[in-house]
Amino acid sequence: MGVNQRRRQFLTLVAATGILSGLQAFFAPARAKTSQSAAAYRNSPNGRQRCANCSWFEAPSGCGVVKGAVSARGWCALWG
Ligand code: SF4
Repeated sequence: MGVNQRRRQFLTLVAATGILSGLQAFFAPARAKTSQSAAAYRNSPNGRQRCANCSWFEAPSGCGVVKGAVSARGWCALWG
């Protein structure tokens, strides 16, 4: 086996590895959300902290880290 052939095999292997890891990242499941009970979610604010002013809030009633519908006036321990 010549040097060029081994080099070509090596480059093919590197390219295939890159493609595989790209596909793996594309098909990886989205990060699992925490349940409302585990996050100590409640339907009332905690002082000035509420879903409406949390960075995870997805209006009108979604949250990026807690499962299910949340209220803009709600709050949980993951507020941030
Ligand atoms: S306070 Fe909790 S439930 Fe509300 S948006 Fe923030 S992380 Fe989600």
